[in-house]
Amino acid sequence: MRSLTLVEARERSSLITVTSYAVELDLDRGDEIFGSHTAVRFTCAEPGAASWVDLKARSVEAVSLNGEALDPAAVLDGRLPLTGLQADNELVVASTMAYSHDGQGLHRATDPADDRDYVYGHLFLDAAPSVYACFDQPDLKAPYDVTVRAPLDWVVLGNGAATQSGPGRWTLATTKPLATYFMTVCAGPYVSVSDEHDGIPLGIHARASLREPLERHAPELFDVTKRSFDYFHGLFGIRYPFGEYHQVFVPEFNAGAMENPGCVTFRDQYLFRGAATRDELLGRANTVAHEMSHMWFGDIVTMKWWDDLWLNESFAEYMSHRCLVDATDYTDAWVDSSIVRKVWGYGAERSPSTHPVAGVEALDAQSALQNFDGISYAKGAATLRQLIAYVGDEPFIEGVRAYLTDKSYGNGTLADFLGAIEAASGKDLETWSRAWLLTADRDTISVDVEEQGGVIQSAVARRESPTDRPADRPHAFDVAGWTDGRELGRVTTTITGPETALADLEGTPEPALLVPNASDLTWARVRLSDSTVAALPTQLAQVPDDQARAVVWSALIDGVHGATVSPGAFLDVFDAAWPHETSSSILTRIAAYAEHRIVPWFVPREAQDRALARLSTAGAGLLERSTPGTTESLAAARLVAGTSADATLLRAWADGEGLPAGLEDDGDFRWIVVRNLASRGLIGVPEIEAYHTKDDTLQGSLNALMCRASLPDAEVKAWAWAQLTGQEGRSNYEMVHLARGFWMAPDDDLVVDYVPRYFTDVPAMSEWVGEDALSRVVLVAFPRVFTEETARLSAATIARDDLTPAVHRSLVDADAELREALASRATFGAPV
Ligand SMILES: [Zn+2]
Repeated sequence: MRSLTLVEARERSSLITVTSYAVELDLDRGDEIFGSHTAVRFTCAEPGAASWVDLKARSVEAVSLNGEALDPAAVLDGRLPLTGLQADNELVVASTMAYSHDGQGLHRATDPADDRDYVYGHLFLDAAPSVYACFDQPDLKAPYDVTVRAPLDWVVLGNGAATQSGPGRWTLATTKPLATYFMTVCAGPYVSVSDEHDGIPLGIHARASLREPLERHAPELFDVTKRSFDYFHGLFGIRYPFGEYHQVFVPEFNAGAMENPGCVTFRDQYLFRGAATRDELLGRANTVAHEMSHMWFGDIVTMKWWDDLWLNESFAEYMSHRCLVDATDYTDAWVDSSIVRKVWGYGAERSPSTHPVAGVEALDAQSALQNFDGISYAKGAATLRQLIAYVGDEPFIEGVRAYLTDKSYGNGTLADFLGAIEAASGKDLETWSRAWLLTADRDTISVDVEEQGGVIQSAVARRESPTDRPADRPHAFDVAGWTDGRELGRVTTTITGPETALADLEGTPEPALLVPNASDLTWARVRLSDSTVAALPTQLAQVPDDQARAVVWSALIDGVHGATVSPGAFLDVFDAAWPHETSSSILTRIAAYAEHRIVPWFVPREAQDRALARLSTAGAGLLERSTPGTTESLAAARLVAGTSADATLLRAWADGEGLPAGLEDDGDFRWIVVRNLASRGLIGVPEIEAYHTKDDTLQGSLNALMCRASLPDAEVKAWAWAQLTGQEGRSNYEMVHLARGFWMAPDDDLVVDYVPRYFTDVPAMSEWVGEDALSRVVLVAFPRVFTEETARLSAATIARDDLTPAVHRSLVDADAELREALASRATFGAPV
């Protein structure tokens, strides 16, 4: 299917204004197809002109335009041509659509726990025409009337409040004008918990087999929802306008969540079945607030074209953290942002695919999707924090309110947004926005100190802009220093040139650790001095400032990826500081990063057992000391479960014996243990299936698949590869889990033959897997055989001209990570 181009979108929206959609969906036609009947009313600015409507149907039964039948066979490449348009038109399309299994369109999944089916619509970014005939572009907004026929025992939810009009018949209330990609319907035997707040009916919904965690987590979810509503109402000065507010936890969701007005969809792993760490709850609360902030930014005002999608996401990313800090108990949300979101965004900056936050002209919808990454979210939010430092908070909020009011139910652009902030602040933003929004890559910030007798004589903050992508970014940030946990000095500064003196540090004692950007206010590579890195093992754990420790860990990760910090030095800091970490976000994220990224990528295979043993020892130490049931205890137990080589312990835990308190019936924890046993070859298929029988749920099935793929057995690897890359009807989640397990192997020999196969088999999957899902598969399935030969094959594949945009982009990113690993291994060899 060809992707809508910007030129086409501009032409079409200058010609067409959509008045309304009436959509009837028949979801009672079995598990493969559903019926879709659309009546769309629209005007045409130039009567007699031609245009088209988007339609990706299994089959088209009937089409009529203004009462005249059109040939259903005229649909070509997802487009139905419309000619001889009148000033006012009505198009009626009756078609049969296919359910998807890749998370795009109307996704249908069977819950193995009870064999019941669930569907949900995820129409972002251009999947709407696979559900109903539409003018699929973000600036052709219209109100919707949706009716649904569904099996008798199903519940139906959507953008408008749902009422049951008869057995299996549902009518959704007329919506406000919505962009096509926001239309959704969730249907199935969902179970629900409801509440109400400030006149807004609230609902939380999940699969029937998740009733217990749904009810357990509902109070917390409602609490965050209510606080977020109050906060955003106060901040934006515009009431939530979309009626009821439903949050639906759906199976096999590709992203974290989606901001459909009135009916937000979330990945249902967020309803943690077992124990959850505090940062997991924080992350979920953050997603709740993020999606809600989109109700204003994205839903009431939508970007005109996909290249301003960053504006939605940067804004929501910023607002959700602000909301958590100001209105909930998660006052450490920015610490979480540093170690979760910004680490993700800095990774995107290191890839050759890095791009400016804004202003990258997206020539078509699909290419816009490729630049939708950690830069759009984390860098965009950091950039907004710098904008606020530049214009002041009050003018910023005043500008936001004006923008939202001015463009309500319509569309906005970057220029509109900046214009509103300029008007409110009286500051010209042209130079600022060119430096921060329109240039790629990031500056490096460091501090040079000259001391005498332990006293700082001079301190200079330096800013280096990348030579190949010069920019003149002003940074507002602070620098702080500690010795033995005592803060010896802190100075706030704005750097506009290559360097600025930090006069306030002169005459203060030289600290053991000096941390540039200690409060993480700006977006930059932080270069720690050699003496600071050397002091980290003895000093880091004593620093009482969570935010500064997060900045240090983030800088270390950056350093490992950039081959300036050895994986051995990282592990030294880990051994010494991690077991004493008190921030749950840092504790769990650094453990996971060390286990799943630092060791597999940067430690040569022959030294990995030693490195994992260090992680396991650190985990066991913390587990012994920590109070059962706490985040510390849970993070430690997970680290031991994933890294320990102690077969006796692992077998006992897998069989439910001697488990740390609170993990007795935790199916997800058991799968961490089983995966470790499986990848070490300590159990086989029959044992994995026995554990699967104990946990015959969607999550259990996926984990069993991953464990099986991880077995060090040539026949199993062949099976897993065929399941992953063949047309076996595997869902998006199944493919990702197969890929996760596949490259786990005791040595390269077992999997090396699949390296060349990856570069032929995986790109070919674009024939039957959607771009969104495939982009993840390409990344996760990328060979973990870190050799020059893999790099050679990778480069040759990237040079092919027949790759889809998503495959190409994910390959570029995975290739960059491979080269980082090779560079680090060449520089440092194996850590001791
Ligand atoms: Zn978002």
